[in-house]
Amino acid sequence: MAKLGNPQETIQILQKYDFHFRKKFGQNFLIDPHVLDKIIEAAQITGEDFVLEIGPGIGTMTQYLCERAKKVLAVEIDAKLIPILQETLSPYDNVEILHGDILKQNIQAIADKYNDGNPIKVVANLPYYITTPIIMQILESRVPLASITVMVQKEVAERMQAQPGTKEYGALSLAVQYYARPYLAANVPPNCFMPRPNVGSAVIRLDCLSRTPIDVRDEHLMFRLIRASFNQRRKTLQNGICNSAELSFSKEEVVKAIESVGLSPSIRGEKLGLKEFAALANELSEPRMGE
Ligand code: SAM
Repeated sequence: MAKLGNPQETIQILQKYDFHFRKKFGQNFLIDPHVLDKIIEAAQITGEDFVLEIGPGIGTMTQYLCERAKKVLAVEIDAKLIPILQETLSPYDNVEILHGDILKQNIQAIADKYNDGNPIKVVANLPYYITTPIIMQILESRVPLASITVMVQKEVAERMQAQPGTKEYGALSLAVQYYARPYLAANVPPNCFMPRPNVGSAVIRLDCLSRTPIDVRDEHLMFRLIRASFNQRRKTLQNGICNSAELSFSKEEVVKAIESVGLSPSIRGEKLGLKEFAALANELSEPRMGE
């Protein structure tokens, strides 16, 4: 079996199986060996690693992963790709193919079964239509994770890394930075894929933190406050929180809490960092009178 990762081999295998790209699965296959090398390098895979690959496609990146890792599990949703993967990955004995939707997998059970509960590495050229749900599900699962190295839409990579006060900064920046330290590894133009996506892409590695960078009593409340603040970006922090359907604090409670953490109620949410949102959540999760 020839090594994939170039246009000729990709076209050949697609024709052999009469495979047609399915837009609904976000299928844009990598056809550039330099980009593949960059992803593998960014992911820092060693012979000790168990790698979970999301969406292997025809197995292009999977081949590269198999050559470096101890073991690879590749989860692919499209049934039509399974026989192709069985052929393209046949030279490797350290890979398993799982036909299914990554959002329906129990990642903890995967880490337990394949890596004795030790930290796993996730590597993927993600389907762009569900990038954020996939990343958030993995981060929130609290599964032992070393890193997540993913190809995503360039704007999404920028949002993950963004700092307070910038236009890219938002709920995704805070959510990602609560669990991980992002590192942008490469920008990737559309011509490295087949078919070409109509957006630029980037490879980002999220180094997962063994403990969260801030102390917050009620994580769920903090994330509800974050969502409320960015749902209505043009509104003040006070109005964002008061108008949120997910929260039920009185205006007095909100103003008091914002002032107690040393901020002005007229500040915009986009100016606050994780530390401020945590402080605000801690303030608002104080037991109320009579509770
Ligand atoms: N890894 C391949 C590559 O780099 O050439 C393919 C990447 S393509 C951007 C995304 C892949 O994810 C496709 O193979 C698609 O069928 C698969 N996929 C889409 N949604 C999925 C899901 N919910 N669970 C698992 N795989 C999915």
